[in-house]
Amino acid sequence: MKIQMVDLKSQYNHIKNEVNEAILNVIEHGQFIKGPDVKIFEEKLKSYLNVKHVIACANGTDALQIAMMALNLKPGDEIIVPVFTYIATAEVIGLLGLKPILVDVEPDTFCIDVAKIEDVISPNTKAIVPVHLFGQCANMDDIMDLAKKHRLFVIEDTAQAIGSKYTFQNGTVVSSGCIGDIGTTSFFPSKNLGCYGDGGALFTNDDALAEKLRMICNHGQKVQYVHDIIGVNSRLDTMQAAILNVKLGQLRNYENSRNQAAKWYDELLCGLDWLEIPKRRANSTHVFHQYTVKIKTGKLKRDAIRVEMGKLGIPTMIYYPIPLHQQKAFDTENYPLGSFPVSEALCDVVLSLPIHTEMNYEMVQEIVRNLIQVHQELK
Ligand SMILES: *Cc1c(COP(=O)(O)O)cnc(C)c1O
Repeated sequence: MKIQMVDLKSQYNHIKNEVNEAILNVIEHGQFIKGPDVKIFEEKLKSYLNVKHVIACANGTDALQIAMMALNLKPGDEIIVPVFTYIATAEVIGLLGLKPILVDVEPDTFCIDVAKIEDVISPNTKAIVPVHLFGQCANMDDIMDLAKKHRLFVIEDTAQAIGSKYTFQNGTVVSSGCIGDIGTTSFFPSKNLGCYGDGGALFTNDDALAEKLRMICNHGQKVQYVHDIIGVNSRLDTMQAAILNVKLGQLRNYENSRNQAAKWYDELLCGLDWLEIPKRRANSTHVFHQYTVKIKTGKLKRDAIRVEMGKLGIPTMIYYPIPLHQQKAFDTENYPLGSFPVSEALCDVVLSLPIHTEMNYEMVQEIVRNLIQVHQELK
């Protein structure tokens, strides 16, 4: 029994005929860029998410950049991001000459702590970028209220949570990425909806924004060779779209498989006093891009567990080992160690266990058995 963080090969084996046919079809029709499969994918994803516009692009980082380019921001404008996230979220802010304003996260959901946002809002603040980390939504009720109050844009980074649903206090249910002004996602192979290369997309319910996003993706043009704004070249290629059309048909099944694995983990891990299982927010579904536990016995133990598990052939990952304010690429002087105690503490104790669409009970059992044994032996 081979245990992997993700098992794309076994997943492919179940959809092999359809995927192969889709790829061959693209080679036959030959429209490798802007082919019909891209439009079909955008339409399918629109109805899956129940959103007005889906604009495919080259990757999730581009999607974030393009979203920010569409908001008429000027150098020095500030954008609020969680300090515990993947680099891409904050990187594009710096790239555009904007200023990332970092905010700590909730210790149990790993998502931005809304109670700490208002303190850092200034006259230059223009947007909030909640990241729906590991597969469940941030506290969108309070984020949307705050954004309305301070007239801020909301760009949701749902690269890890596509398909998750948020239930607002008034009962409205909305797919992640379709709540704020713009949502962005990634189709990187290991993401919940992954292609066989790079891919990404933007979501919006705003017609004018949709038109602008589409223009930016396409060199700032609406009519060929007429360039009204500065854009970029960011396209989902047709073959990736064809693959995604097959995989989108499986996304709900994939979500269920991941939830089943998470439930097995919960059952086998919930009694341990040295470990904390991931918390589910009551008003969001979870699509378990990652199953991330906290090793309460601390960093040395956590790191040793990783090494020992690795020797036994069981991979684990640390998402993320260093919070953004401690990354040299950013202005670390403004944020000394201790600035974001929750995120700093999380980086020392989080451990992501293998979770993917092809897991069975025996695999989860095997992982948990080894985890407990390794921890025991390290005592
Ligand atoms: C994967 C990811 C991205 C970037 O996606 P790419 O397609 O790799 O550019 C952005 N944000 C988060 C939270 C991610 O997990």
